[in-house]
Order: sequence, then C-alpha cells, then structure tokens
Amino acid sequence: MPHARAALPDAASVPGGVAIVELGAAGARPSATFGGRPVMVLAQPEREGAWIAVVGVALGADASQSPSLAVRNTDGSTRQVAFSLQSKAYAEQRLSVAPRHVELSPKDLARHERERVHLAEVLRRFSNREPATLRLATPTAGPRSSSFGLRRVFNGQSRNPHSGMDIAAPTGTPVLCAAAGEVIDTGDYFFNGNTVIVDHGLGLLTLYCHLSAIGTERGAMLDAGAPLGKVGATGRATGAHLHFSVYLNATPVDPALFLPAA
Ligand code: ZN
Repeated sequence: MPHARAALPDAASVPGGVAIVELGAAGARPSATFGGRPVMVLAQPEREGAWIAVVGVALGADASQSPSLAVRNTDGSTRQVAFSLQSKAYAEQRLSVAPRHVELSPKDLARHERERVHLAEVLRRFSNREPATLRLATPTAGPRSSSFGLRRVFNGQSRNPHSGMDIAAPTGTPVLCAAAGEVIDTGDYFFNGNTVIVDHGLGLLTLYCHLSAIGTERGAMLDAGAPLGKVGATGRATGAHLHFSVYLNATPVDPALFLPAA
C-alpha cells in the first residue's frame, strides 16, 4: 500500500456539497486550488498513481457556471480541471423577531466584526497532514436538524444561510471530537458562544458552537471521540443544542455527507 486510503465523504457536486474531482495520474501528488484557495488532494482509491481533489463548494456557488480547479503538477506544469455542478434548492425560513435580535448595538456590531475577521482567518487554515479519515464520528447523540443551507430572513432582512447541522441535546451532554486533529481555536463569540475549532488536515476543519463549557485548549491534539466540551446555549441560541459545522477549503459544507446515518 503506497498511500493510506482515507475513507471519503459522500460526493454531492452541488452548492454546499463536496465535489470529488479526478485529477488523473500525475506522478507525485499535485497541488490544486479552487477560487485561489488550496484544496485537499488525495490518492485515488483503487487506482494506483492517480489523484483526486476533495472540494468544498460554497452555498452561494452558481450551478449554471462550470467551475474548475487550477492544478499544479510537481514538474511545475499547470492545468485547469473542470467539474460539473448541479443546482440544489435550499428552503427559506422567514421569521419575525424583536428588532433588537436583528439590529445589533454599535458595541455588539464592533465586537461581531472583530470576531468575524478572526474566525475567517482561523477557518482558512490549511495544514499539510493528511486526515486519517474523512468519515466523521457523531459529535453528540441527539435529533439532528436537516437545516444546513436554510436561507433565513429575519424581519425581511436576509442573513447568512445556516452553515451547519444542529443537534438537540440537554445542556451538559458531552461533545466529542469528530476525528483526530489539532485544536486551533477556542473562544466565546457573540453569535457562536463558546466555540472549539479542530483542524484535521488538508483543509478539513470541524467547528462546535454554543458550548456550556470548553474542555480543551488551543494546541491540544485530540483523538476521534475525545471529549472537547459540553452542549449548551451560549451565544445566540434559542435552546440547548450543538451547532456542528464542517469546513473544506475554508467553505462550510453539509456535515451529513461526512457522518454515519442518524
Ligand atoms: Zn446552527
């Protein structure tokens, strides 16, 4: 076995999904970027010497355009590899809430803006270790929402679509690391509440939000299934639940593609 064969997520070449793109045989491992960001390249299972890219597709991607990867071979030659994208309709939710829940005070807005910049930088992490697997373990037991991608409109104002999966569980329920990795950020954020972010390698990150307690620290190396905190309702949460997000190439993708069936 010349390469460890990482188990792959379910492929879904749609906005918010994961495209698995064949790069062909190119000698040693090529590098690839999508929209200027590095993407995960792995040995292709069952095809000796060939490579695939595992690409996170943004929820806002336009399915009428044929996207392509910029691939650089180890001999320095470059090529474009196009892949097809199907459209996917996500539901919209219109809510009426008290205006103070939509319009932030100048102080909260300034805090949120600082945190947004910080989190965007953390979520761009691309480390060169290869994940042991791309099949993730369930981070906490409980009923899962299927609301990834839900477009939310509060009092007529559009907000970012829902970027993760909500798992309902009582406050204090242990939250487990979904795969082996390094804790690259912890913090208490305005919207996300107590948060842990884990880097699994090659741009695969997981994010755990609204925790009642954080049970790890930045720099810790965690095994799959290691406890990293407890379910809570910190930040902007209406009740106790885990918000769980999966990122590939700095893009949130549907966690259900990586998890065992509930
Ligand atoms: Zn959520």
